[in-house]
Amino acid sequence: MTDLESLGLVIDGRMVSAGDGRTYESVDPFTGRPWARVADGTAEDVDRAVRSARTALEGPWGALTPPERGRLLARLADLIELSAERLGLWETRDSGKLLREMRGQAEALPEWYRYFAGLADKVQGDVIPTAKPQFLVYTQRVPVGVVAAITPWNSPLLLLTWKLAPALAAGCTVVVKPSDHTPASTVALAQLVTEAGFPPGVVNVVTGWGPETGRALAAHPGVDKVAFTGSNEVGRSVAHAAAERFARVALELGGKSAQLVFPDADLDAAANGVVSGIFAAAGQTCMAGSRLVVHRSIADELVDRIVRRAESIVFGDPTDECTEMGPLATDGQYAKVLDHLDAARAAGATVATGGGAVPELGGYFVRPTVLRDLPDDARALNEEIFGPVLAVVTFDDEDEAVRIANSTQYGLAAAVWTRDIHLAHRTAGRLRVGSVWINAYRTVAPQVPFGGFGASGIGRESGIDAVKDYLETRSVWVELSGTTRDPFTLG
Ligand code: NAD
Repeated sequence: MTDLESLGLVIDGRMVSAGDGRTYESVDPFTGRPWARVADGTAEDVDRAVRSARTALEGPWGALTPPERGRLLARLADLIELSAERLGLWETRDSGKLLREMRGQAEALPEWYRYFAGLADKVQGDVIPTAKPQFLVYTQRVPVGVVAAITPWNSPLLLLTWKLAPALAAGCTVVVKPSDHTPASTVALAQLVTEAGFPPGVVNVVTGWGPETGRALAAHPGVDKVAFTGSNEVGRSVAHAAAERFARVALELGGKSAQLVFPDADLDAAANGVVSGIFAAAGQTCMAGSRLVVHRSIADELVDRIVRRAESIVFGDPTDECTEMGPLATDGQYAKVLDHLDAARAAGATVATGGGAVPELGGYFVRPTVLRDLPDDARALNEEIFGPVLAVVTFDDEDEAVRIANSTQYGLAAAVWTRDIHLAHRTAGRLRVGSVWINAYRTVAPQVPFGGFGASGIGRESGIDAVKDYLETRSVWVELSGTTRDPFTLG
């Protein structure tokens, strides 16, 4: 077919074919048809990319001053701004997520690049006073080195940017392995990096079908840090591979986030927040608010409002501005969500709405689903589904609400809905999660750290400290007295 978008690997600042010339097709989950032909990289291509990143690190990129790096990041932000529509559309075609969401995400990316552009020349060491007056001691902050960024399909560029922008601000070079289902926007971004004037090899992209390229990258001895976003299962294997050679690792993994609704909450606002938390993006976000933890006295009323809104959700073409829910991104994800629904019914759940596919639409559409009366150990209450499925649990008092919210292995995010300022902050302070929204849900910003407790991952992205995660510290001791000392004691 000739009308397919043709995408290669990006190595050394150029778009190139996979070494053995293999390609695969990326399928639009709404039309079910391929729309792009993508290079199917191999372990040898990963090796080429890592070597290119090392050469840039030790060469032209390493020679730039921090303000020069900041200027390049700012230029990249400008180019992304001009390309946001195309980047958003490509993400929609790859993932089936709404164009208005993916365009919005693409439009927000420059905020991250500008924020980290501003931090590039604020990386500095300290002069450290010690009890040894004969020494001047200072620290230097140096780039950790070559970074592997391995990303998932749900928000390809946003989640990549959370790694790429601070890594570049710190002076690292990067090899990106995007999800095999959503490679296109990452290749396009790497081309903008070249266009912005970054030296060749600073940002490389190796696409590839299946786990081979990701596995080769995580295990590559030339990679100093692996920054991964994705499932817990793959995250564990990435962490093992990195540990084998003591490479640094950051993991952004899954969640089973709770929205706690107290009896005095604004129920319209809470219902809207719960809908946005679990039905936006068809629930395919790591921060999905997949558990509603609601006070027994208002449970029926709140669930009714959520069910009414869920039943009015408009399905359809994700590029149509009126569509509110598109298909799930992959056949595997579709099968997984339906399997969870079967398991919930088998566990005795009451299905308040939804509960299955939308056969009249074909494709991978799943109805927004609300499940009640689940036993505590039900999979739908404890496992990440990554689909439009809300599990409802009731509580009778504050302690029980907190206990339920903290009862999963995850700890990514939560919301507290109440008008009581004391209760709101008290509860936020007891939740073992990385982000708490009070009377809101699903908002992020470059200045604010994001990441999880427990099985939701290791490390935080965004925020002023994100650059530090891409730095090593070197301590330098300078002898000032010019005298010698006893060589057989610790000085
Ligand atoms: P995934 O774990 O299947 O894949 C993630 C990436 O790893 C992809 O690029 C994939 O090709 C690659 N990969 C696959 N096998 C590999 C291996 N053996 N070694 C190295 N890399 C390998 O995840 P997904 O299905 O793309 O994304 C969905 C998951 O991501 C969900 O579980 C979701 O919770 C999680 N997620 C978390 C966050 C967060 O910030 N915490 C954000 C988005 C998604």
